[in-house]
Amino acid sequence: MQKKIKGTNDILPGFLGEGVFVSEFWQRIEEEILNTAGLYSYREIRTPIFENTEVFVKGIGDTSDIVTKEMYTFSDRSDRSMTLRPEGTASIVRSYIENSIMKKEPISRFFYGGPMFRAERPQKGRYRQFHQFGVECIGGDSAKYDIEVISLFWTLLSRLGLKDMELVINSVGNTQSRAVYLDKLKIYFKDKLDGMCKECKDRYEKNILRMLDCKVDGCQDILNAVPSIIDSLSQESKDFFNGVKDGLENLGIPYIISNRLVRGLDYYTETAFEIIHGGIGAQSTIVGGGRYNDLILQSGGNSVPAVGAAFGIERLLLALLDEGVISPVDNEPFYFIVLLDKEMEADAQKILYDLRLEGIPSTESDGSRNMAKQLKSADKSGARFAVFIGGDEWTASSVMVKDLKTSKQNEISFKDSYPLSVLTSFYNKLGVK
Ligand code: AMP
Repeated sequence: MQKKIKGTNDILPGFLGEGVFVSEFWQRIEEEILNTAGLYSYREIRTPIFENTEVFVKGIGDTSDIVTKEMYTFSDRSDRSMTLRPEGTASIVRSYIENSIMKKEPISRFFYGGPMFRAERPQKGRYRQFHQFGVECIGGDSAKYDIEVISLFWTLLSRLGLKDMELVINSVGNTQSRAVYLDKLKIYFKDKLDGMCKECKDRYEKNILRMLDCKVDGCQDILNAVPSIIDSLSQESKDFFNGVKDGLENLGIPYIISNRLVRGLDYYTETAFEIIHGGIGAQSTIVGGGRYNDLILQSGGNSVPAVGAAFGIERLLLALLDEGVISPVDNEPFYFIVLLDKEMEADAQKILYDLRLEGIPSTESDGSRNMAKQLKSADKSGARFAVFIGGDEWTASSVMVKDLKTSKQNEISFKDSYPLSVLTSFYNKLGVK
């Protein structure tokens, strides 16, 4: 038997799948994504699922975990290095520059969604193919855009019914103030490294800021006493961070500050933020994002400030299921065709086809001729009405329609030889939500 690749998942309809991997839940989230993106006037951008490896190495940073150990990189038939996208921002920045979008509008508001690929160790909430929804607000250097992006996610999660969520913010400063801070960290950790984990020792050399992300118990005392980045910020960065805090307070969005929040991608400047959830285990970060004022310049474009964020649909679903607040979208049919006379099979098929063409969700039995069995599968399908094709009523130019909730029967007559118009007007009266 062929098996799926470790860390990937099949997402199945509710009666076949379970937990996070039920397609009706995904559709509910996707529906709310489109609603909320619309509320904020964000428009969709779709970029390819693979890019030249360079796009991600330059964009995400060659010392980041993603680039050093998590990318699915391969050579194509002409020996060019390609990579399955591990995140969205680097590709969107590539597209922004390539399509000269800067010349077309001062502020671009994009949203995107789709599968991302990272060779991480799979566990609950962490997969090798996962699905992100994200937004990028490109062109604005004011804190109001940071607030806009944070509040978009807060709105989306609130509209989905999530309650037990926590917004954590920090500032990682601009390049100059961060350089000052990195020097302070070098001095602070220098004589403490012996007592720290291997990863911290590695990061000390390669990407010292990421040491703050370490979750190993034995390192926590040292990390908790680390100098705060806020004290190293330039006045400009401090003012900016205050602007973000004031903006959140103005909207009434609660937050906490964590000076150890640095995020795993190298491109962030100024604001970094996460929305976390206590009920989903070790992988508790649902949303992650921040400002990236230097990325477009570093990737070969002009100096254009930007801010963005993303969440994993799997992790959001874990949180929604933990709180028991998600309900699946309603995909149930309106009509279920019950065939009474075998000879009328062709008529039944034609009616089904025409109903669907009219936009009325309809289905039929899976082959049984027995009426009781057909009605049983009608109930199981969740259809609202059973339509009986054949029988005495049919011969007398009427069609029997049974309400599957109340068991009430309606006999509707059709004058011509074909009941499509009466079924359509019945649907228009009762079925249009
Ligand atoms: P990042 O792109 O690393 O900033 O991650 C943003 C969000 O994407 C996280 O908060 C998660 O919700 C989701 N995410 C990142 N990596 C994974 C993964 N391997 N599996 C599932 N979700 C992920």
